[in-house]
Amino acid sequence: MTRVPFLDLQAHHAPIRTELVAAFEAVLDSSAFAGGPFVQRFEKDFAAYCGTRHCVAVGSGTDALWLALLALGVGPGDEVITVPMTFMATAEAISYTGARPVFVDIEPDTYTLDPRQLERAITPRTRAIIPVHLYGQMADMEPILAVAFKHGIPVVEDACQAHGATYRGRRAGAWGRLGCFSFYPGKNLGALGEGGAVVTDDEDLARKVAMYRDHGQARKYHHDLVGWNARMDGIQGAALQIKLKRLDATNEARRRHAAQYRGLLADVPGVVLPRERPDGSHVYHLFVVRVPDRDAILAELAAEGIQCGIHYPIPVHLQEAYRPLGYGLGTFPVSEACAAEALSLPMYPELTAAQVETVAEELKRCLARRTSAPASAEAARQLAPVG
Ligand SMILES: *Cc1c(COP(=O)(O)O)cnc(C)c1O
Repeated sequence: MTRVPFLDLQAHHAPIRTELVAAFEAVLDSSAFAGGPFVQRFEKDFAAYCGTRHCVAVGSGTDALWLALLALGVGPGDEVITVPMTFMATAEAISYTGARPVFVDIEPDTYTLDPRQLERAITPRTRAIIPVHLYGQMADMEPILAVAFKHGIPVVEDACQAHGATYRGRRAGAWGRLGCFSFYPGKNLGALGEGGAVVTDDEDLARKVAMYRDHGQARKYHHDLVGWNARMDGIQGAALQIKLKRLDATNEARRRHAAQYRGLLADVPGVVLPRERPDGSHVYHLFVVRVPDRDAILAELAAEGIQCGIHYPIPVHLQEAYRPLGYGLGTFPVSEACAAEALSLPMYPELTAAQVETVAEELKRCLARRTSAPASAEAARQLAPVG
């Protein structure tokens, strides 16, 4: 029996069901299915939300990253820096421009790009840097931007897990030359299918991304660039415009659950809690703790009806697909340690306080079994008769 699911999209959509159905009908009645006015209205609202001048909606977060790099002119022979502790898409987008992903390890407590290790990864071929705002917390943007500025390299934010997160008073997406978002259904702002967006203050880059998403045309049948079809569906634009209105409230709910988890797990031996930057707002796309013996604990919790996840079990530099890059085990020790120990606890706005308590109690029980077992084995050995 599932006592606490990892995610509950039905509960998430129930309160806005009527509004969503009305939006589908409006799209159906106007036949504005691919791009069109529903998408344009969402673009306007999302740019305003992020605090950027432009937003270009695309087909997915992967599209957003790929087209952002193409708009910057990244291509074969170039290098793009990112972190190995991310979803595969960040690196795939780099590879699909023809450039080579170059990795920099993460900070051990925030799990985002370590600015102190950034500069030594820069070479004359570096064309972009992609910090990833992992789990809902922004990377340490000021020192990252300082290094990038010194070398004249643009920064592209992977904000696919950080809709509405802030750092020093400004939102995710508004710090880099371009910011990339995913609206995959389970993200903090999720569509009812696939979706993504690129935000930027740079009009020329916005125009380029818009051309790339629509076969390189600014005018119908005049193709100035070799582009792609990466348009957003009208239905997704309409649904996202409705869901955006609730984003601040749902992020606030996630932060409440995170605070409750923290309180309940604060002094539990064996649990490492995520560090929150004091100068930002973490929006807890995921609540990730580090525990020893992670895979066994995941299975034990599942047996108790508590669904957890792992984000991510294999860092990107050790993926089979990237074997040709030649990074061996031990190259990025912090990412590798996190990949071995990270456990994502149930996290979604509709969680109840009782569910959070259940998760914390069961996790504590799992860990207590482990810390007491070796001690009692030792005691048993001492008590055993000699000879
Ligand atoms: C979800 C995600 C992506 C990819 O987004 P899609 O919409 O699934 O293509 C990229 N980067 C990160 C960090 C993500 O979490």
